Amino acid sequence: MNKHEILQALSGHCDADLFLQANAIKQNVFGEDVYLRAIIEFSNFCNKRCHYCGLRAPNTNLNRYRMEDHRILETALLATAQGAGTIVLQSGDDFSYSAQRIGALITAIKAENDVAITLSLGDRGLDEYAYWKSCGAERCLLKLETTTPRLYKKLRGGESFSARLHRITSLKNMGYEVGSGVIIGLPDTDILSTLRDILFLSDLNLDMIAAGPFVPHPQTPLGNGVAGDILLAHRVTAILRILNPWANIPATSALGAVDPGQRILALHRGCNVLMPSLTPEEHRREYTIYPGKNLLDAKPSTALEHAKNLIAQAGLVPSPCKGTSPRREHAYKSTPRDATTSNTHRHT
Ligand code: SAH
Ligand code: SF4
Repeated sequence: MNKHEILQALSGHCDADLFLQANAIKQNVFGEDVYLRAIIEFSNFCNKRCHYCGLRAPNTNLNRYRMEDHRILETALLATAQGAGTIVLQSGDDFSYSAQRIGALITAIKAENDVAITLSLGDRGLDEYAYWKSCGAERCLLKLETTTPRLYKKLRGGESFSARLHRITSLKNMGYEVGSGVIIGLPDTDILSTLRDILFLSDLNLDMIAAGPFVPHPQTPLGNGVAGDILLAHRVTAILRILNPWANIPATSALGAVDPGQRILALHRGCNVLMPSLTPEEHRREYTIYPGKNLLDAKPSTALEHAKNLIAQAGLVPSPCKGTSPRREHAYKSTPRDATTSNTHRHT
């Protein structure tokens, strides 16, 4: 797709064709398989002040929690017992968990379970990420949120876009499978900035790309903002699929927060991953990045089962595999265009 075609697609001029093409490419690469990532949101403490997020440090209307190590390990065990091939450890930017402590958790989870581990811990040091890689973590998720540097700085309380980008490229160089993404429909974004987001993310050659809609949180500076357009979020993920055939692309939880049916729809429009939350009952409602988060998912003991049912309802197959990104295998063999014509379906 060239820039003109992307703009046409973003404007909704070709929804039916766009979604069909995205689904066909997804089917060619991943078949019917949908990868399951079990998220454990182990702390809602955060030292950042992102204007869009309910976990931001200045939000005092929130019961903060930190899970103890044995609870995190029990939850990981629960996830793998239910058939999760990947565990995602996510938290606010909570530096009270030392690098050694996170490393010990990774080692312990890997010792007990044949799973891949994704870290979504925010702006930790590159030395820490290198250490966690040596402990066995395979993947990182660090979203750019917006690729407009000025807006990034404004919405993330003065933080530097180039520092975030440097972190992402360094993680790639360390050998991590790296995921990034943006929030669709943040204030002060428009169709041109969305086009730039899509091109920027695609140029990064990511293993995973997430693009969920902005959900305003009342206890944040953007609480009165307009919610991200759901259809636009579908268009963005479909375009990303066409431009990035081998990337894992999740049907985001933010889509599900609006309406659970949206995630099923996304699985037919180019997405191939679901990320159910396994966060324990006593905490899951306090992980309020945005309103509605974790409200619609089932409780942890049945969360994976629930996700599998959702996938089956969509006529697709929940995959127990780790769901490694096929991008690396193919990047050096053929051009992405080949994925639109040949079946490159993988089960790793
Ligand atoms: N602290 C880490 C990880 C937790 S935040 C980090 O920031 O990287 C996980 C993701 O939640 C963020 O990357 C952001 O994309 C998303 N998020 C936060 N607030 C949101 C909102 N109001 N609407 C939609 N997504 C939001
Ligand atoms: Fe903290 Fe991440 Fe929320 Fe920003 S998006 S306030 S870093 S949890």
